[in-house]
Amino acid sequence: MTREYPRPRLVVSRCIEFDPCRYDGSKIPSPTVARLREYADCIPVCPEVEIGLGIPRATVRIVRTGGSDRLVQPATGRDVTDEMSAFAAGFLDTLPPIDGFILKGGSPTSGTRNVRVYPSVEKSAAIAKSAGFFAREVLKRYPELPVEDELRLNNQRIRDHFLSAVFTLAAFRGIEGTRDPHALVQFHANNKLLLLASSQKMLREMGRLVAARATVEPGALYGQYRRMLSIALARAPRYTGNVNVLLHTLGYFSDRISDEERAHCIRLIDRYRDGHATLAEPRGLLRSWVIRFGEPYLMNQSFFAPYPAELIDLPGDVTDRGRDLWEAGEGPPP
Ligand code: SF4
Repeated sequence: MTREYPRPRLVVSRCIEFDPCRYDGSKIPSPTVARLREYADCIPVCPEVEIGLGIPRATVRIVRTGGSDRLVQPATGRDVTDEMSAFAAGFLDTLPPIDGFILKGGSPTSGTRNVRVYPSVEKSAAIAKSAGFFAREVLKRYPELPVEDELRLNNQRIRDHFLSAVFTLAAFRGIEGTRDPHALVQFHANNKLLLLASSQKMLREMGRLVAARATVEPGALYGQYRRMLSIALARAPRYTGNVNVLLHTLGYFSDRISDEERAHCIRLIDRYRDGHATLAEPRGLLRSWVIRFGEPYLMNQSFFAPYPAELIDLPGDVTDRGRDLWEAGEGPPP
């Protein structure tokens, strides 16, 4: 069950772990990015430096006047909206296929959400929240790719979902160029439980597409599958989705494990369902049984090890920024 992992290709804000390029010459620490650099191909970018604002520099802010947003540097009165829009378009135009983005939270340029919008360049209270200027273009062009900020990745559930998604998309990218229908059958088979946890509906639709592969031109087949895969991976799996897969897996071993082992596994699943344990705990236990019993159907299921084990044991703070997933009704509060 040893897996070879592809290297996801990620665009990362340059100030996160790469270079001290923030307005004050600082760098942002991120345990996830620091570790991920070993397992992913990162493309660092600092849009503010790229448009020539320098390091250090006076801060910029989003100013909303007359219904339109501008990116302005209050200390100099400089309006850099056009430069930033041109840079974002030019940079994104030249990117190779990408599996995800990790952008600096809270930045008027790179923040993906909840960035303060002001009514003027004068000292004033924020009137709205939005995405930063560069991040807006990313979100517009890549609506179905995983896009996270480094703070949200401190939340274990968000991080688990992000890593699962980018490693799965990278694996798909690895076979996409072949246009080989058989490779797609294998990919779909290996990811069935992961997709089942994410969306039963999408799993069914993707299964129908794969079953009809002989009637679809290979380029269209892969294109349609990619769109479906992106949609299926776009949302974090609900608790119930993961619990269903865990219980389904436990069913394979019911007559091969002791009552104590079964009770222990159910306790871990309950702890996960109640928000007291991470998915990694029951998933790890079940994975050990998959290996021990060599259950053929489960051996290649990505659900049990969707990304390298070295990325599992990162610090697990639950941050305020991580809460919006839970508030979206996808599970109990942390
Ligand atoms: S948040 Fe974005 S623009 Fe600001 S320093 Fe980091 S990479 Fe550069």
